[in-house]
Amino acid sequence: MQFLKRMITLYPRNHIIIASTFACLIGLVLLVAPSEEVSAKRDSLPLQLALPEQADSISTAPEAPTAKVAKENETDKSFDLTDWKTVEVKPGDNLTTLFKRAGLTARDVHEISSAGMRLDKQDSLKKLFPGEKIAFLIENDQLSKLRRVKNPLESIEFVRSESGYKFTKLTRAPEIHTRFVSATLESSLFLAGQKAGLSQKLIMELANVFGGVIDFIYDPRKGDSFNILFEEKFLDGKKIGTGEILSAQFVNRGSTHTAIRYVDSHGDVGHYSREGVSMRKAFLRAPLDFTRISSGFNPRRKHPIHKKIRAHRGIDYAAPRGTPVFAAGDGRIVASGYSKANGKFVFINHGEQYTTKYLHLHMRAVKKGQRVKQGQIIGQVGSTGYATGPHLHYEFLVNGVHRNPRTILDKLPKAKSIPHDEKQRFTEHAELMLAKVEAHQHILAFNE
Ligand SMILES: [Zn+2]
Repeated sequence: MQFLKRMITLYPRNHIIIASTFACLIGLVLLVAPSEEVSAKRDSLPLQLALPEQADSISTAPEAPTAKVAKENETDKSFDLTDWKTVEVKPGDNLTTLFKRAGLTARDVHEISSAGMRLDKQDSLKKLFPGEKIAFLIENDQLSKLRRVKNPLESIEFVRSESGYKFTKLTRAPEIHTRFVSATLESSLFLAGQKAGLSQKLIMELANVFGGVIDFIYDPRKGDSFNILFEEKFLDGKKIGTGEILSAQFVNRGSTHTAIRYVDSHGDVGHYSREGVSMRKAFLRAPLDFTRISSGFNPRRKHPIHKKIRAHRGIDYAAPRGTPVFAAGDGRIVASGYSKANGKFVFINHGEQYTTKYLHLHMRAVKKGQRVKQGQIIGQVGSTGYATGPHLHYEFLVNGVHRNPRTILDKLPKAKSIPHDEKQRFTEHAELMLAKVEAHQHILAFNE
């Protein structure tokens, strides 16, 4: 109910009525063509509306049968630690110090430890992490239960029995709600995402979805926009994190890129365009973490030193020193070294034809001969070698010939598509997702 109360104080009543009407409409869309995923989660969606805080970033998530709202604060009884004595693990703590703090003895420690020995390393009580909680239930001056609370979703419980302590693993599933956010770019995707209330992790994931089609440092322009339909995880009414990106659209200079998350009939997950082409390409458009570059669109810079010495054979990304540099594609490190001109450099071979080169690094994170995956960190942006300031110099070679990294990717073989026998299933799912996106956009237009 807290949610409703807060909402009512925040929003004028007519907005709620309008929004509820739309919520019903969306409900109808869902009823007409429910996917398995959606119908399983529909019941737990609370009424949740967010009014735009900024004119250019607005969000809403009104897919909400209201009847379930009151249930939100019900705590799963088995996770209630009211009568327990709880201590938090601090750096340097071990079982003995924690037991002492709870008023227990070395003998108790011994008995629990011998039960814990039978557990996997990551579950046993030997290695505890700061921030975890240990809860003790003491009954009749005896430790009857101990619980290691690893995180809100995962606990291990030790219960006293005739033959020593027995343990069980306790897990909880969070409630999944979906949320829709739409925003317009003033200076960068990162800042627009932040302004719209998206976490850095989610912005990064959003950029990863489009990483094969958009270079988030060079491509975006003021006035570009995006929308994202994603999952949020809740536990006892509190948000504990985000889940999957169900769909996302990025409008770059008037052309719309759409990505829809799809689980195929083999259980493989990916994001696809509305035509069913995988968003995952052989190469990233920009081989560095753009979320570190928050100071607006990167102007196309010509490199003063390079220009004098030779024709520029790559692309320069001005970025703060230390910005992670990614492998543009899967491959093998064929060189990782230092030279006076290149500074610290890394070369990657991607199959027989393609090589990518990364120069002026602050540090290298890979060795010659090592295999790397697309997106893996291979080093950090720096200004070693002939460089006026921190930037990544990136080159793309096809059969040993330098090509323009900004245009060559469009000439490479196409990414895989949804197989023919699954096209119908994919299309139905994509249409449903896009109908949801459209319904959300109508609500936003209404609220404006
Ligand atoms: Zn350069």
